[in-house]
Amino acid sequence: MTTSPVSVALTTSFADTLPELALAWQAEEAPDPTLLTLNEPLAAELGLDPDQLRTPEGVAFLLGRSVPSGARPVAQAYAGHQFGGYSPRLGDGRALLLGELTDTEGRLRDLHLKGSGRTPFARGGDGLAAVGPMLREYVVSEAMHALGIPTTRSLAVVATGRDVRRETLLPGAVLTRVAASHLRVGTFQYARGLDDLDLLRRLSDAAIQRHHPSARDAQHPPRALYEAVVAAQAQLVAKWMLVGFVHGVMNTDNMTISGETIDYGPCAFMEAYDPACVHSSIDEGGRYAYGNQPAAAEWNLARLAEAMLPLLHEDQEIAISMAVESLGTFRPLYVEALLSGMRRKIGLPPSADGAESTALVEELLGLMEADHVDHTSFFRALGQAARGEVEAARSLVVDLARVDAWLARWRALGPDAAAMDRVNPVRIPRNHLVEEALDAATAGDLAPVERLLEAVTSPYDERAGLERYAEPAPDQFGPYVTFCGT
Ligand code: AMP
Ligand code: MG
Repeated sequence: MTTSPVSVALTTSFADTLPELALAWQAEEAPDPTLLTLNEPLAAELGLDPDQLRTPEGVAFLLGRSVPSGARPVAQAYAGHQFGGYSPRLGDGRALLLGELTDTEGRLRDLHLKGSGRTPFARGGDGLAAVGPMLREYVVSEAMHALGIPTTRSLAVVATGRDVRRETLLPGAVLTRVAASHLRVGTFQYARGLDDLDLLRRLSDAAIQRHHPSARDAQHPPRALYEAVVAAQAQLVAKWMLVGFVHGVMNTDNMTISGETIDYGPCAFMEAYDPACVHSSIDEGGRYAYGNQPAAAEWNLARLAEAMLPLLHEDQEIAISMAVESLGTFRPLYVEALLSGMRRKIGLPPSADGAESTALVEELLGLMEADHVDHTSFFRALGQAARGEVEAARSLVVDLARVDAWLARWRALGPDAAAMDRVNPVRIPRNHLVEEALDAATAGDLAPVERLLEAVTSPYDERAGLERYAEPAPDQFGPYVTFCGT
């Protein structure tokens, strides 16, 4: 065991190129830190030594208390539309960007803390986070990654030894998060709000360099950047829809420029297929319901276009018509991504007859909605049905005549069962399992979180002993509500 400081080269390119958006700040002290969970494969990918991260110096690094030389932690400024209402100044109220590091594959990644104490952006908040919500982000983001969905990653959760006041007193924690960057739609909105064209240009250039480098050589780089973000978000939201993920708080400050999923607050996975599915206690109107997510993303992208207008054209009328045209690419891209994903889920080749496979998908979703069919179990059971064993799928449906007719029509197309098993997960982080594991962790027992992590980070292979992680919530679990009081 070594106790020397973690030696890692953190760069400060965000703070250097966009100083107007970076406020130098320091993480709060943790009275009695304990490492709760460390993502060893991710540490290795980042070129960090897991054994060293487990030492007291390593934990101090994960908490932002031991800052490598050359690094300069900052709170990032951003704005955002929250449930449709605009806040010109949000920013990292309880988070810090420690710096960027180049991973073992040469990619620049942000190292970021959540729950590291109040910053000047904290407004009324305490700057802290509780163990449960930080482990929730860790588990769900790692599950999303295992499902092949672009997402921020979780490197570690460290309990601080300080209690956090929510409805009750809860143990506090800091999440160490890794992201392609933390540039958000809200970052552009903030820059636009400062009415500083030079800043907006630097932000656009930084986003191009970091996330969408091909835009640099386009005829109109900012417009190409905008269209690249539209395309990345269309792909991302289609992927959410295909696994039944409900983000829960798709505010513009929670939408990245990179196309990674970010900010796992009141998120949850849908069980019974239902476009109106919503879990978040603060989303009373169902603005961010499962079926509204594509429209919410498109709305957010319109706000990004507004923020970028001065970069599109100096004549505002022309800029608006350019933005409208570019935003118009969202729907066809989304529909294509969703339909091709759905074709894969039912084992049909991308070359399958478009009209017939679309009709099959629509009929299937109608049937699932009518009979409240568990989304994850049913698609997985269809893999068996493709092999001729239809009972598992039939057992999940009430209207047997309807499903039999569908199965016959579909099987006549020769679905590829093995291909289906590679895209239809057996295990997702089901809400009752997440709650059970987080409750145990809050009470000091981390074993259920570790088992859940193992189950959801190997989502596609059927494994003996993990059967309960594949089952829908028992009836008595009731309607699932998540809280943003994270
Ligand atoms: P979120 O809804 O988690 O995306 O956060 C929205 C805004 O509220 C961001 O500016 C956060 O930094 C801020 N925020 C959330 N929780 C806290 C907290 N406990 N203390 C300070 N700021 C917070
Ligand atoms: Mg947020």
